[in-house]
Amino acid sequence: MSYRGRFAPSPTGLLHAGSLVAAVGSWLCARHAGGPWLVRMEDIDPPRELAGSANAILAALPAFGLVADGPVIYQSSRIAAYDAAFEQLCRDDRVFPCWCSRSDLAAGGGLHRDGHCIAPADPRRAPAWRIRVPDEDIHFIDALQGPQSQRLRDAVGDFVVRRVEGFYSYQLACVVDDAWQGITDVVRGSDLLDSTPRQIWLQHCLGLSTPRYLHLPLVLDSEGRKLSKSEYSLEVDPTHPLPALRHALSFLGLAPDEKARDAPSLLDATLAHFDPQNLPQCSDHRVT
Ligand code: GLU
Repeated sequence: MSYRGRFAPSPTGLLHAGSLVAAVGSWLCARHAGGPWLVRMEDIDPPRELAGSANAILAALPAFGLVADGPVIYQSSRIAAYDAAFEQLCRDDRVFPCWCSRSDLAAGGGLHRDGHCIAPADPRRAPAWRIRVPDEDIHFIDALQGPQSQRLRDAVGDFVVRRVEGFYSYQLACVVDDAWQGITDVVRGSDLLDSTPRQIWLQHCLGLSTPRYLHLPLVLDSEGRKLSKSEYSLEVDPTHPLPALRHALSFLGLAPDEKARDAPSLLDATLAHFDPQNLPQCSDHRVT
């Protein structure tokens, strides 16, 4: 299987330290494998979007030496493909409408596990749509984090693929587009490690193949605790790219070349010694 990688930011803020690590890590893996590196803008959640941030992220990437091999795909232009996937799930009776409120779900620990809605149908309100999950473990081998297993029924329950407002979920849009773009290798932050079993289940339901996954180092503090997302989210300055890029490389366990004068030459110097097998599973090198 030849290699096709991607970076898939959400325009919910400017490029931040954590997403720079995902961008650089996915770029290095793709270049090392001799495959293209694609960029997909995951702009399907308008309420969470920050105006102007999609353009700002895309403008920042080249400043860090990261140039996509092909046009950027915008998920906002792909709704017809998500409609088709959703219709397939409906036809195959994989999904059900759900009118549950948070308090309806509280009794089940906030999870929906029954394969059907426990609240009464309300024709005056649009429902969310959930996909039924199996009562069995989903296994995969992460290229860096090793064997993973999750029982969807206990971990997330029947999860939402289409929200009340009509927006498709990240999980659905992501698997439809990874397949459509022919992505063979998903390299992304470990904050998404626990989304992967849901994505593998969706791939199974939609008859799509499962790419290889590599989740970049978990961020740990000096006591070995996972760092919160907010500590991971300070924005980086594309007008002075070298400090943030050096930091991202150190986070990935890569010794940045101190002599490199600009971002592209720093990336090229790093690539010359890069081997994904040497990436650390965890990093206590904070990305902020
Ligand atoms: N858009 C997601 C995020 O920025 C990442 C999606 C992915 O890499 O699968 O967190």
